Amino acid sequence: MVPKILGIIGGGQLGMMLTEAAKSMPEHISKVIVLDPTENCPAARAGAEQIVGDFKDKNAILELSLQSDIITYEIESGNSEVLESLRAPVLVNPSPATLKIIQDKFNQKTFLNLNGIPVPEFLEVESLEDLERKVMSFGYPVLLKARRDAYDGRGNFKIESRDQIESAYKLFENRPVMIEKWVDFKMEVSVIAARNTNGEIATYPVVENIHKENILETTIAPARIDTDTAKEAEHIARKTMEVLHGAGVFGIEMFVTRDNHIMINEIAPRVHNSGHHTLQSSDTSQFEQHIRAILGLPLGSTRLKHYAVMRNILGPRDFAGRYKPIRIEEESGVYLKMYDKDEAKPQRKLGHINVIDVDDTKDISLLINRAEKARDSIKFEPVN
Ligand code: ATP
Ligand code: MG
Repeated sequence: MVPKILGIIGGGQLGMMLTEAAKSMPEHISKVIVLDPTENCPAARAGAEQIVGDFKDKNAILELSLQSDIITYEIESGNSEVLESLRAPVLVNPSPATLKIIQDKFNQKTFLNLNGIPVPEFLEVESLEDLERKVMSFGYPVLLKARRDAYDGRGNFKIESRDQIESAYKLFENRPVMIEKWVDFKMEVSVIAARNTNGEIATYPVVENIHKENILETTIAPARIDTDTAKEAEHIARKTMEVLHGAGVFGIEMFVTRDNHIMINEIAPRVHNSGHHTLQSSDTSQFEQHIRAILGLPLGSTRLKHYAVMRNILGPRDFAGRYKPIRIEEESGVYLKMYDKDEAKPQRKLGHINVIDVDDTKDISLLINRAEKARDSIKFEPVN
């Protein structure tokens, strides 16, 4: 195969780690070009060429398509209409048709529901009166969700009583919304799944995700659930990949209910924060897997070599601006990855720490403690 030029929409940390994986596969990828609005974005620092422009900008996307053999993305809010209009020889994976289903949470859940894949109960909302009526039928609490362009929980509002309905509705004025029944889940988990252009599917072992204020803080691989529940999660992930028909790596976020059943919360049509542990814990990283999938190469092994804990490094609450280089004490099985972002902002994802169980103790509490300790040792200090 002649090496291909890979275009990526979005050059943040996901684009950066995709670029790094691409650079380790020179027989398959000759060059990476990213489209990102921030000059010198993380992916560019990792060696990608950059087109500076908005993710949704038609001309910028066209320019990227002229320079690339194959286009993929690290964000789901790209312009699916423009991507759909691109013609051969450039390929787009996952396909714009798949992206379109996923971009709108209501369409996504309708699609899953029609395919017999369990999701929380949900309804479309068309007006304030409609919302009032539907909240009554669901009962409290209920989650009002913006259907599109939401991340880190910023598109969600938990309605707990009647007097919150109107203000919640106004919060998302002019944006399409839906409601969802509140799920009193036992745990949040996810499965990183891959499907290549030939239809081959592979899933990574299910992992446990701990969120703080709607932002992922810690991922534990594997999830602390029984084998039957883990099998159900992996089965549902595989079935989802079969019906979705997209090529690439997908992050499938799920709830484990109190009675040990699985429901899908949402799907990300891209590499996912809860798959960062695979960089050191697994036979194949999710980033290499994504490239293999979109190029139609045989998928790599998803075996978990060692238990692992990933701890995100978020910008501290009381600090914004440029910061001194971050280091941690060298320790066997502890890996720091910073995303080379110039400025910290509260809660911004700036890096992560992977703690790998190289001694095979299988002691997850110990791994969590080591990850917390490493995170606590990091201090953000301003540069003058
Ligand atoms: P992200 O960018 O983190 O993926 P998002 O903004 O797309 O998030 P969701 O994934 O829909 O938002 O929800 C964020 C979090 O809110 C979930 O991880 C979960 O903790 C909680 N949540 C979402 N839907 C429900 C629900 N129906 N019942 C209970 N909790 C929910
Ligand atoms: Mg989510």
